[in-house]
Amino acid sequence: MKKIGFVGLGVMGKPMAKNLMKAGYALCVWNRTKSKMDELTTSGAISANSPREVAEKSDIVITMVTDSQDVEEVILGKSGIIEGAKLGSMVIDMSTISPQVTQHIAEKLSHKEIKMLDAPVSGGEVGAIQATLSIMVGGPKEVYDECLPIFNALGKKVTYMGGSGMGQATKLCNQVICGINIQAVCEGLMLGSKLGIDMEKLLEVVTAGAAGSWMLSNLGPKMVKRDFEPGFRVVHQQKDLRLALSAAAELKLPLPSTALAQQMLRSVEAEGMGEKGTSAAIVAIEKLARTGTR
Ligand code: NAP
Repeated sequence: MKKIGFVGLGVMGKPMAKNLMKAGYALCVWNRTKSKMDELTTSGAISANSPREVAEKSDIVITMVTDSQDVEEVILGKSGIIEGAKLGSMVIDMSTISPQVTQHIAEKLSHKEIKMLDAPVSGGEVGAIQATLSIMVGGPKEVYDECLPIFNALGKKVTYMGGSGMGQATKLCNQVICGINIQAVCEGLMLGSKLGIDMEKLLEVVTAGAAGSWMLSNLGPKMVKRDFEPGFRVVHQQKDLRLALSAAAELKLPLPSTALAQQMLRSVEAEGMGEKGTSAAIVAIEKLARTGTR
């Protein structure tokens, strides 16, 4: 079995790394905040001192960090993966970042004969823990075929979307749909609350009908309980809406509801809740309505 390196053990990265170990892969890990490696090393992973060292000890390196510049730093930076990766080895970036930056990184890696896939995911922390993620992959098809067993250990739906950047392009569409859907859940719950409907019953009945969605099932109960723990942070959703809106701007494509969703979340950030989970989106509509949802 190939030796896998894993860089970035946050909300998503840690459970994904654990699932790779469960599937039998030998793992070498690195995280900027060192304490986050402890759980993995206790379970048998080896740790490294830099992304470069991870690459030296691995055949395939997975990155799961935050934004475009973070992926650039851990792959192309001074102690980055590019400095340690072997000829013919592979990098799989599973963070959500810009398709253009992805293509730029893939190009730089190709000069050193290192292959790259972009493979962002959807399904949240729960999907990462349960290995039920939906994974959308861009890059050379033969590299995708070779990495498929790895993806199958992390998700239940793995889809090849085309050349470099096409996984990230797909993820931006996913985030537009999610971002607007979050606002729809907020507005439905707010109306229910003002109409005096029992909120638990409201959730139960609408989840079972045509209004059902991942956001309603996963964030609806949290909104009602005012559980704003991440999960997926507001700042990360804003990053993704920014990426989607800037891709649309290049295409001169109007995405009015996406822009509104971004502005609503901006007011959540203004409340100092950017590091909270996206269930905190309810706060924006509460502020507008000058009322709570209970
Ligand atoms: P997170 O909990 O904030 O974890 C981010 C990880 O990246 C941390 O390990 C962090 O290190 C590391 N990191 C960030 N910038 C870095 C840099 N410049 N150099 C080195 N390490 C860096 O985020 P997450 O929720 O796991 O999300 C990770 C990615 O998956 C994001 O692109 C996000 O948009 C995407 N995603 C998230 C979800 C979700 O539900 N959470 C779902 C789908 C996709 P430290 O520990 O030192 O901070």
